[in-house]
Amino acid sequence: MRIVLLGPPGAGKGTQAKVLAQELGVAHISTGDILRQNVKDATALGQEAKDFMDRGLLVPDGLMSKMLQDRFAQDDIKKGFILDGYPRNIAQAKTLEEIFKPKGIDIDIVVYLDSSDSVIIQRLSGRLVCSKCSANYHVTNMPPSKQGFCDKCGAALYQRTDDKVETIKKRLDVYKNEVADLIKYYSGQNKLHRLSADGPAQEVLKEIVALTK
Ligand code: ADP
Ligand code: AMP
Repeated sequence: MRIVLLGPPGAGKGTQAKVLAQELGVAHISTGDILRQNVKDATALGQEAKDFMDRGLLVPDGLMSKMLQDRFAQDDIKKGFILDGYPRNIAQAKTLEEIFKPKGIDIDIVVYLDSSDSVIIQRLSGRLVCSKCSANYHVTNMPPSKQGFCDKCGAALYQRTDDKVETIKKRLDVYKNEVADLIKYYSGQNKLHRLSADGPAQEVLKEIVALTK
């Protein structure tokens, strides 16, 4: 199964993708996670991307294309994947098709997780992320069993530097500028499925799983 998760920041793409990837036995590819790892490791890509990320802007398509090509050259994508955070504009959607063409693969479904602005701001301003395994938590919606530490690997949790109200609003603007075109693009390919992501995570998961049957 090859799935693209679309949706605003905070809709729950990462939360759903992590569980779904395990259930379906496919790879989870989060471009945000890969970028944050590069920033942490101070790679050339991380150093170029950091300023864009801190300002809530998209990292330039050229940098993203190279990163995606490298990721899709890895073996684990052969079992299928959930793509979370890419594509974010039409140019990226076309890049994806160029990467897939020589491999003879295509996206099966695009799941658009829709969420309201008030829910997004509540979720992102309380999001906590594991510094080691990138698991997501929320101070009130999904608190860890031990405050400040990951249930899965025990590492410390942190708040993302771009989860500040001003940067959240900027990211939402950037998202809204691009999403209508992407929705049109994937609707035209009969791949788009739209779900409300405002409900409990378990309910949203059930609805996504139903689309994979
Ligand atoms: P995205 O990857 O789309 O930016 P995340 O998966 O990181 O979003 O989720 C954003 C925040 O909202 C996290 O703190 C997560 O724990 C919380 N969250 C995700 N899905 C739900 C949900 N259905 N109900 C309540 N909180 C949620
Ligand atoms: P995310 O983890 O998906 O919320 O992404 C965090 C930040 O990483 C974004 O605000 C962008 O700066 C950058 N980013 C992630 N994915 C992409 C992408 N597909 N294209 C451009 N920038 C991206």
